[in-house]
This record gives sequence, structure tokens and C-alpha cells, in this order.
Amino acid sequence: MSLHAEDLNDFQQQVEEAAHMARSLHTGSTAQDAAAVCRALASASKLSLRLALPAGSAAMPTTTGCADHPTGAVDPVAPPGWGTCLLCNARRRRHDAQQRTPGQRQPAQ
Ligand SMILES: [Zn+2]
Repeated sequence: MSLHAEDLNDFQQQVEEAAHMARSLHTGSTAQDAAAVCRALASASKLSLRLALPAGSAAMPTTTGCADHPTGAVDPVAPPGWGTCLLCNARRRRHDAQQRTPGQRQPAQ
């Protein structure tokens, strides 16, 4: 199956933009500048997945390993034994926090 022209164009533009941003970094750049390059590369990476495998493909790779959020954000500090999906891990952390502090939700007498 040939590549979809619009997706290919979007992908190539994002790669060019990310490369331009990366080349613009210098020793005086900030962490925010580097983070912007990181986001541009992640966006281009997602588009590359769309090009490589059509939507609904059984072999569609995921960036998170999560069936619910296959192209969602990756948790950079996922605890051992957890998945790498940031959305699912955030939900799990909230749930765990509520389990640890059951008494704090009751009103004081
Ligand atoms: Zn998830």
C-alpha cells in the first residue's frame, strides 16, 4: 500500500522543523528549548507510526504499550512493575493515594 500524500507531507515537515530546532540549540539554550525539540521529535515519531502502519492494523506499535492510550504520553518515572502510560499511571497514583489516606476524607468532629 502506498503512503498517503498528506500524511507524508506532514511527517516530512515535522521532521524538518524538529531538525531545525535541534540545530538551533547552543550552549546558552535552556532546558525549555531542549524540551521543545523533544516534543517536536515525539510528534514526528507519532506521524511516522501512522505512515508505517495504517490505523487499525493489528501490528500497530504503541509508544506507551497501553491499549487505551497507544500514542499517549510516556511516564518518565514509572515505578518498577508499572506500565509506561502516563494517563494510566496518573489514575493509578490518584487511586493509591486515596487508599492510603481513607480517614482524611471524613469531616472532623
Ligand atoms: Zn493508558
